[in-house]
Amino acid sequence: MKDKLATGLLRTLFGGRIPPQIVIQYTDQCNAACGQCAMRASNRFNRSTLEPNRVKWLIDAMAERGVAAISFTGGEPMLHLDDVLELMRYAGRAGIPYIRTGTNGFFLRGSDKPDFEARIHSIAARLANSPVRNFWISLDSAHPETHEKNRGLPGVVKGIEKALPIFEQYGVYPSANLGVNRLTGGPEPITGLRSDRTFDPELFSRQFRSAFRAFYSFVESLGFTMVNACYPMSFEDAQADRAVYAATSVEDFIRFRNEEKPWLFQALLDVIPEFRPRLRIFSPRSALHELIQGYRGDSGGFACRGGVDFFFVDACNMDVYPCGYRGEENLGKLWDLDLSKLNAEPWCKQCDWECFRDPSTLFGPMLEFRSSPAKAVRRLLKDRTFAKLWFEDLRYYRACGYFDARRPMNKAKLGRFRKTDNAAGPSQIEEATA
Ligand code: SF4
Ligand code: SF4
Repeated sequence: MKDKLATGLLRTLFGGRIPPQIVIQYTDQCNAACGQCAMRASNRFNRSTLEPNRVKWLIDAMAERGVAAISFTGGEPMLHLDDVLELMRYAGRAGIPYIRTGTNGFFLRGSDKPDFEARIHSIAARLANSPVRNFWISLDSAHPETHEKNRGLPGVVKGIEKALPIFEQYGVYPSANLGVNRLTGGPEPITGLRSDRTFDPELFSRQFRSAFRAFYSFVESLGFTMVNACYPMSFEDAQADRAVYAATSVEDFIRFRNEEKPWLFQALLDVIPEFRPRLRIFSPRSALHELIQGYRGDSGGFACRGGVDFFFVDACNMDVYPCGYRGEENLGKLWDLDLSKLNAEPWCKQCDWECFRDPSTLFGPMLEFRSSPAKAVRRLLKDRTFAKLWFEDLRYYRACGYFDARRPMNKAKLGRFRKTDNAAGPSQIEEATA
């Protein structure tokens, strides 16, 4: 099976494309209160949930088009656990190998109740019986009360701690999913402001380095072995109106100015190596480096493959969009689409959605090698930091077993990253702006 996947992947890359990935917003119903998201339960709008039989047509169309990865997102997908499990099984039977879903963790409340363990055993067993490859649990802060207050889900952190060993008994290793925000490290919002209220990038970066350290230590202490960081999806009001995926917000704690973003990404890039030997961390440092370069005015990085190889299907009418944010580009129904006829040249860098931006950067050099080997070599020689980070990311992804959350972390393999040279360490921006 692994060989078949690898051959399929190589064939697609050789054809100049990345194996397609589709994010299906199964529902926009949600029971949480997250300030960072317009789908929070208190927001009034007409909610929709897809109809499972119609999603099966969609999955058939995906399989015909060689889609390799499918994510069932929300809203809160676990509000429809039976349907999502059935659809994941259907997608597995259709031959789609990378199947993902996640939760805000609402069902992990009440860990002191007598039925808690039985309930979690039942959910873990059902997930284990499905072909789900990745299962994420959202966490917004290293400080449990801050996370629970933001989500409106009291007691959920204790439940996570108690549930993770149960999931492991069934061979399911959930990942912690951080939506990067100013409360990542604790209840005091990070601003980088000096006492005279001026912005100090050094202070901001230092504060975020501590926040990310606190966060990674926290998820490790809870028992997670895998973790992802969603880069902030704060949009200006006009842009937010265009989004078809309402997981955006204009709340201050999730909004970052462009001036702040390179420092924020640099802090994350700096801290990741400290935790790579102990956690499987999705965030590729090469992609973070590219985002930093982009915010510093370098337009040469790899564009996002949203609308080329990656797509979003909305919960309202099951239409396909290039992503959740280019809501003005409705591509219609998937079964009417010939993906190979869509523009094969990626161009968009309008946002930092890591689901699409990270793999676009990771696969970027491979595709470039195929279309223009000289250009690819020139790029790697020109930006040696990127080259070094990219090769290291590839080695690290391999050591992580390509983030197969149905397998335990291989500590021996990850331990080899203990001596990681911090190729683009804390000095990168300081030097550049000195
Ligand atoms: S971030 Fe997720 S859990 Fe929170 S309101 Fe939005 S959809 Fe619901
Ligand atoms: S960069 Fe953002 S807006 Fe552009 S295609 Fe990718 S996800 Fe969509």
